[in-house]
Amino acid sequence: MLKLSSHNPQHACVIHITDTHLMANAESRFVGMNPEQSFHAVMQDVLARHRKIDAIIHTGDLAQEACPETYTRYLNYMQRFAIPFFQVPGNHDAQDCFPFSQTAPQQPLLLELGQWCIVLLNSAVAGRIDGSISAEQLGHLSEVLAQCGNRPTLLACHHHPMLMQSAWIDAHCLKNAADLRALLAQSAQVKALICGHVHQDSAQQWQHFQCLSTPSTCVQFKPRSEQFALDACPAGYRLLELHHDGQWHSQVYRLNALPEGLAQQQRGY
Ligand SMILES: [Zn+2]
Repeated sequence: MLKLSSHNPQHACVIHITDTHLMANAESRFVGMNPEQSFHAVMQDVLARHRKIDAIIHTGDLAQEACPETYTRYLNYMQRFAIPFFQVPGNHDAQDCFPFSQTAPQQPLLLELGQWCIVLLNSAVAGRIDGSISAEQLGHLSEVLAQCGNRPTLLACHHHPMLMQSAWIDAHCLKNAADLRALLAQSAQVKALICGHVHQDSAQQWQHFQCLSTPSTCVQFKPRSEQFALDACPAGYRLLELHHDGQWHSQVYRLNALPEGLAQQQRGY
């Protein structure tokens, strides 16, 4: 368990960013736009709007070009803010050079923040676009949840366990969501799960808790689309306020403009 201190008297403040899709070279473009610039613009918005941030959680696809240069540049950039930050891998990341926040790639990381527990899970499977949480990790997860006791708990992983009503995206979901669901059915303290991967804002009730997906810091996918389609929507992130009494509140923020150069007619990547 890693203990983080909360800077706010009533609630902890967590920023959720996801799907930065950074390139090996900061100047390179992706779908016509520059993911590095868009990510930095998102972080500037985060810092301008929100004071006293307790933690930043990145739910994967840090890299579009998954190599040490990309990850090193990400880490150097994030370190300058002096805010604790954490990341789990996505399908585009390379697990052999990913900067895991967990001590072992198949172990959940438990963070303690104020009254809350935050559990980071690795849903990425080498060579696959869809995801799964290994049996080994689910075993650790039930131990971790027992450690959390009745403290309010937030989970985070890359792949969406809930269906998005979008055929091509749902083909790439968390494949063993039923196993996770069965395990969490007994864990009334779980309040929410945050994920990335779907590049859109959504919230739905899943058993006794909410599953939330968050816009990418680069390009967005069109909700409820049968086939791959980009959405003409600016990059964004999510703020989570985790109140000490177990209540919570979240809000998505977006930049004012679409990323410059975005190739809106792109048919896939
Ligand atoms: Zn992504």
